[in-house]
Amino acid sequence: MADRELSYSKGVAEPALLESTISAALASTVARFPDREALVDCAAGRRWTYVELHRDVRKLATGLLRAGIGKGDRVGVWAPNRWEWTITQFATAEIGAILVNINPAYREYELEYALNKSGIRQVISAVEHRDADYAGMLAAVAPRCASVTDIVFMGSPRWDELADAEIDEAALAAIEQTLDRHDPINIQYTSGTTGSPKGATLTHRNILNNGYFVGTLMEYTHEDRICIPVPFYHCFGMVMGNLAAITHGAAMVIPAPGFDPAATLRAVQDERCTSLYGVPTMFIAELGLPNFEGYDLSSLRTGIMAGSPCPAEVMRQVVERMHMGDVGICYGMTETSPVSTQTRAGDTFDQRVNTVGPVGPHLEVKIIDPVTGETVPRGETGEFCTRGYSVMLGYWEDPEKTSEAIDSEQWMRTGDLATMDDDGFLRITGRMKDLVIRGGENIYPREIEEFLYTHTDIADAQVIGVPDHKYGEELMVWVKMRSGAPALTIEALRAFCEGKLARYKIPKYLRVVDDFPMTVTGKIRKMEMRQQAIAELEGNE
Ligand code: AMP
Repeated sequence: MADRELSYSKGVAEPALLESTISAALASTVARFPDREALVDCAAGRRWTYVELHRDVRKLATGLLRAGIGKGDRVGVWAPNRWEWTITQFATAEIGAILVNINPAYREYELEYALNKSGIRQVISAVEHRDADYAGMLAAVAPRCASVTDIVFMGSPRWDELADAEIDEAALAAIEQTLDRHDPINIQYTSGTTGSPKGATLTHRNILNNGYFVGTLMEYTHEDRICIPVPFYHCFGMVMGNLAAITHGAAMVIPAPGFDPAATLRAVQDERCTSLYGVPTMFIAELGLPNFEGYDLSSLRTGIMAGSPCPAEVMRQVVERMHMGDVGICYGMTETSPVSTQTRAGDTFDQRVNTVGPVGPHLEVKIIDPVTGETVPRGETGEFCTRGYSVMLGYWEDPEKTSEAIDSEQWMRTGDLATMDDDGFLRITGRMKDLVIRGGENIYPREIEEFLYTHTDIADAQVIGVPDHKYGEELMVWVKMRSGAPALTIEALRAFCEGKLARYKIPKYLRVVDDFPMTVTGKIRKMEMRQQAIAELEGNE
């Protein structure tokens, strides 16, 4: 019998990679489509053509230079989706400052870590969002962060001063000469398997091309209008949304600062959007609106669902009831800019529900035996690895973690389990890493466990994901109390986490135990904890 084909595939080499900086790519689109709409912020009631966007980006870029920010300096952005985020993204790119995305759901503990770890000099922040007092948290944390010398609140007189600076063409042209597409331009924190968040460091070339190819496979043109309810702090918003738009002359439409299903559908309707993004949970919320039928969604033709597997019924409804016949599925991770595989417009329903599509242009994918490292035959499960322009430079100032993730031949090991079929379509079948995905948010139990160890009464804590109808998974923590300490209640646990951990990371369920199920070598058996928890939760239903 002939050897079966191996689980390796390489994407097409066309069109060519963009070999420019983000600022040069924006300038070229501005030259091609000066008067097309570039950005709409529905909540703020503001809109920009490409020429207007470019002018405001260059004003802020000049303001940042005057404030002493230069190439390589880290500028943190902490805000939900609003126009200032987008302007800041492109203004920092204009002068080669490295944008550090700070999750709007972060609270003090996580904020302090990100500020210190990446040595942020300037923070551009919203004053508040929903019940989060960003100004208060920054005031509490900044004195402990030596690198932070400047905090600019969006909408404040200081913001106006920077954002309204008179454009210094000569200074911007001079700095452009010093920029290289291989320079780092963005840091995004992802928790990884080992507890503390790690700063995936991405170059112009990484993210510009990923946005460009996502848009190319979506067949975007300057006629497209992309509704972006997914967060800018993640690649889904700022790369697959913003950079896909600016490389094709399409419009970026921000429906609301935080996810709001009704505002999203209203934006699609009022702005005649052609493409809508979301994690499956968001589409479920939109489809579940009581007045769903009242929205005119006939302008939609496409969109992207990513982040976690899409249930077949949701896909069927998105195609039939939301008119998104060409909707695509993307798979990837922050460390790979993010997209590695993507379904195409002509792919079958089955391929869009059961696979995450084939490898993207200019990229390679292989499935390996995690123990031997050998590429497995097609159809067999192994670890998903990818290589190419999309792979990050590394984790910010963490060569050790970088070399655990990227091998000497530049293959990124994703920690996801997958199979590749005979047509080269990939299926994600599981995760090697200890990761919970709650409503599209990735939660690394280790990070929460480490936080809980700071509670004086807790001797040990183990966090697991349990199935949940609404969010896909919910968090449960098992704690062992220190001897003599009273048993913790769920209310006390939540109060302890409140304000310190992002709300989605606060466990829903608590179990106080004397011991955890262990292997003979002393490793905690999370699988067994999960099985016991599921049986218990089912018993309570
Ligand atoms: P992040 O770094 O936040 O983008 O999360 C990346 C992780 O999300 C991947 O390693 C996968 O475990 C998961 N993921 C992303 N996209 C998909 C998808 N389409 N289907 C299943 N899991 C996904």
